[in-house]
Amino acid sequence: MANTSVADVQLLFDALLSDDITYDISARRYRYKDSGKFVSKNRTIEIQKEYLAANTKKFTYLGKSIKDGTITEKELALELKKLHTSQLVIARGGVAEITHSDLGSVANLLRNQYYRGKDPKTGKRYGLRYLLRDAPNQSEAKLNQRLTMFAKASEITKFIVNEHIAKEQGLTVYRRRLGRTHKHCSSCLLYESLGWQLVSSQTLPYPKTSCECLSNCVCELVYDRPENVPVPVF
Ligand SMILES: [Zn+2]
Ligand SMILES: [Zn+2]
Repeated sequence: MANTSVADVQLLFDALLSDDITYDISARRYRYKDSGKFVSKNRTIEIQKEYLAANTKKFTYLGKSIKDGTITEKELALELKKLHTSQLVIARGGVAEITHSDLGSVANLLRNQYYRGKDPKTGKRYGLRYLLRDAPNQSEAKLNQRLTMFAKASEITKFIVNEHIAKEQGLTVYRRRLGRTHKHCSSCLLYESLGWQLVSSQTLPYPKTSCECLSNCVCELVYDRPENVPVPVF
């Protein structure tokens, strides 16, 4: 994507590294600082899963730092970016596999998560900036609750990457699969009832967007080739 600069990519990975690992931007791999050896692909994914779990926990308790004024908007945004970056690396199955298209889409999503988001139903703006604006009038618990929603929404990055992978593999139809473990809102039920659709139609929004479950939605999108689909509705 044209507007994703090398500096952006570097920052995306700098944000994530533990002290003993460095990101080699020309090799597009992680290296151990002491030995200079590359970190294996499997270990890379493991590391990202560890980061994601630890950083998610940390992120959902930042309400206190927000109340105390000890975290800036920039720092808060960086913490959220870490969650999305881990989701990105895990969904792609490595760092070198990440495409410019992935980075462009995630950068766009992050701008919505920071300040540019707009609820498609109500037209109301959302983003971390608004959470910070509300902070003086909200309890720490309420702020943590809202932070939890942002953390859960980092899964949208996974859905974006899955869609890119599906396109690359020629899987051009998709359907909504309801999550098993929650009560579905009427929007989720409607998306599911539409059955198979062309991905290019953009009929089915990513789970955790455009429905009343919001980030609590546990639905998935399933991709396939049109010839494998039993009863196409298009
Ligand atoms: Zn829903
Ligand atoms: Zn759902």
